[in-house]
Amino acid sequence: MNGIAEKDILVLTNLRKHFPLKGTDRSIHAVEDVSLTLERGQTLSIVGESGCGKSTLARAAVRLHKPTGGAVHFRGKNITDMGQKDLRPLRKHMQFVFQDPFASLNPRRSVAKTIMEPLAIHKQGTPAQRRRRLGELLETVGLSPEAAGRYPHEFSGGQRQRIGIARAMALEPELVVLDEPVSALDVSIQSQILNLLVELREKLSLSYLFISHDLAVVKHISDRVAVMYLGRIVETADVDELYSNPLHPYTQALLESIPRVNAHNRAVRHALKGDVPDPSDPPPGCPFHPRCPQAVAACSRERPLETDVSREGGPLHLVSCLLHG
Ligand code: SF4
Repeated sequence: MNGIAEKDILVLTNLRKHFPLKGTDRSIHAVEDVSLTLERGQTLSIVGESGCGKSTLARAAVRLHKPTGGAVHFRGKNITDMGQKDLRPLRKHMQFVFQDPFASLNPRRSVAKTIMEPLAIHKQGTPAQRRRRLGELLETVGLSPEAAGRYPHEFSGGQRQRIGIARAMALEPELVVLDEPVSALDVSIQSQILNLLVELREKLSLSYLFISHDLAVVKHISDRVAVMYLGRIVETADVDELYSNPLHPYTQALLESIPRVNAHNRAVRHALKGDVPDPSDPPPGCPFHPRCPQAVAACSRERPLETDVSREGGPLHLVSCLLHG
C-alpha cells in the first residue's frame, strides 16, 4: 500500500526540479516543493506567466525530466527513479501535445506517417490494422481521409494541431499533457480546438494535465486549477471556486489581466507589473512580494506556508499568502 487512491492517475508529492548553473554553486529552482493530484477523467491546469516553471513541472511529472526530489506516482506506481527500460511500457499511457503545431510536426513526414509513428514504435497492430486506426483517428479529430497523404505545410495552424492531437491519441493514452496547445492559434480557432479536447476527454476517458499562461483559456476545460509562481504553486482550487473567489494576489492579478471589452467596445487589459524574478536568485520571504500590490512588511521576510482555506463543506482550496495564513 502506498496510499495512492485508485481514482488518482497522477500524484506529485513535494516535487522538485533544480538545474545546476555551470561554473557556479547555484542552481535554478525551476520546480520547488509541488504537491498536486490529478483524478482520472479530469483536467488539472497549471497556470502562470512564462518562466514560472510550469513546462518543467509537466516534464518532470511524466519523467521527461528526472526530478531532483519528491515523488511522482503514475497509475499508482512510483516512477520517480524508474529507469528508461521500466518506463518504456508506461510511455504509451502518457502522451504530449505541444504548443507549436508548426514546430512539433516533421515537415518531411506525411500525415499518415506522423500519426502512425507511435503505433509503429510501440509495435501496435499489423500494417492493415494501423491504417484502419489512422482512418478512425482522422475522423475523430475532424480531418478528412484525404489528409493522410498530405504534408504539414499544406494545413492551417488549427488543422496541424488536430494532426498533433490525433498522433497523441493513437496509442489510446490515459494521460495527455497539453503544453500551451492553443496559444499559437488565432482566438477563433482556439475555441474549436478546446471544444475538440473536451469532446475527446469524454469520449476516450482521458485525463489532462493542461499547461497555460492564460487563465481565460483554461476556464472551460479545467476541473482544478493550480496557479504557479517562480517554481511554486501559490493557489489551488476547483475551477468555479478559483474564478469566483481568488485569494492569492497573483491569481487576482492574472484574472485582472484577462482582456475585457469596455463600454467603447475596446479590449482593456490590466497588465501585471514587473517581470518574474531570476529563479536562480529568488527574493527572500514571499517570492511575489516585489510585485505584490497587497504586500505588507512581513512579506519580504517570511515565506508563506500553504494554508487550507476551503469553505465549509466545499472542495479543497489551498493558498500560500501571509494574508490568509
Ligand atoms: Fe502578497 Fe504578502 Fe501575500 Fe506574498 S504573502 S502574496 S507579498 S500579501
